[in-house]
Amino acid sequence: MYKINDNYLKLPGSYLFSGIAKKVREFSEANPEASIIRLGIGDVTQPLAPAIIDSLHKAVDEMGAAETFRGYAPDLGYEFLRSAIVKGDYASRGADISIGEIFVSDGAKCDSGNIQEIFSLDNKIAVCDPVYPVYVDTNVMAGRTGTYDSITEKWSNVIYMPCTAENNFAPEIPEETPDLIYLCFPNNPTGSTITKDQLQEWVDYANRVGAVIIYDAAYEAYISEDNVPHTIYECEGARTCAIELKSFSKNAGFTGVRLGYTVIPHDLKCDGVSLNSLWARRHGTKYNGAPYIIQRAGEAVYSEAGKAQLKDQVAYYMNNAKVISEGLKSAGYKVSGGVNAPYIWLKTPDKMTSWEFFDYLLEKANVVGTPGSGFGPSGEGYFRLTAFGSYENTLAAIERIKAL
Ligand SMILES: *Cc1c(COP(=O)(O)O)cnc(C)c1O
Repeated sequence: MYKINDNYLKLPGSYLFSGIAKKVREFSEANPEASIIRLGIGDVTQPLAPAIIDSLHKAVDEMGAAETFRGYAPDLGYEFLRSAIVKGDYASRGADISIGEIFVSDGAKCDSGNIQEIFSLDNKIAVCDPVYPVYVDTNVMAGRTGTYDSITEKWSNVIYMPCTAENNFAPEIPEETPDLIYLCFPNNPTGSTITKDQLQEWVDYANRVGAVIIYDAAYEAYISEDNVPHTIYECEGARTCAIELKSFSKNAGFTGVRLGYTVIPHDLKCDGVSLNSLWARRHGTKYNGAPYIIQRAGEAVYSEAGKAQLKDQVAYYMNNAKVISEGLKSAGYKVSGGVNAPYIWLKTPDKMTSWEFFDYLLEKANVVGTPGSGFGPSGEGYFRLTAFGSYENTLAAIERIKAL
């Protein structure tokens, strides 16, 4: 008789956002007249930029003519896109990354979930707490995390690096030595980031102890401050210890279009085995490439017109971030984030738990946010609002919160 992968049964509760959606649906059914503003899930709302739409149309037409039709894409991505990535995201920042180190994919969620596959089950992971749930849950599914303690809400075989107001939401080097270190800056959910010097310390540490950093840079486009690194490869030595994950979702509104990429430098080797070649093998076996049409859309992100249009889009969301941040501060909330990231992280008032504040905001202001505790135990007592709504909705939501 067959058996299931019972690691899946260890996963506590439902995925955070399904839980929130259920609560909102129930509230909305009980209060059909309430106009709910959603500043919860990290999904964009602005339409695709004109340069991207033009490129999509053109690529669709190509697919309709025998001379320009394309079938399976190359496993690792079309060269036109990989070279645009190298030029636009790495060479321009003085980071030494070549085309052969770029793996185009359908997004950073899949990549951040799949990347653990090329590592032994014996590896111990370290994560920030709070954290993007995908890193932990995919290691649970693989059987790498030990047992779950529902009191502490922690896995026995995971190293947690608390990120709270006390350390300015920046992880500290853990006492126990990890093998795989997940870092995400600018951060989801806290909206915080670290300086280049701080990231250099992580790179030095990883090289010293023989760990790999899995660096999620999905929010790179939102960086506004000078001393914040745009890629981990700005740091010396990152080529021997870091994998970088990038997404077109947040900088270009591709959440429904689907495109991302992973960087694995050739210098990243474990006992002489190249991680780049392992990932290439995995990609070639389990993945048939992002669609040609979508890769052309991705190429347009790096065109002059595309860059200008996307800069405006990011500015639009960051103006929302400012409205949220300043509005909440004027209402007496303790707020962080919103400077280099489209997330505002606030301390719940009156010692409310994250979920108590979620219910309070939903019932009293009809505003949906995300409970910080859903991202890990150190997120308890915090709450996340996103700047991805429309300006009008953002303004209305903040007026409602101020009026409470
Ligand atoms: C949104 C997000 C991603 C991007 O996911 P896609 O699959 O590319 O849409 C990756 N990491 C984090 C932390 C995110 O918030």
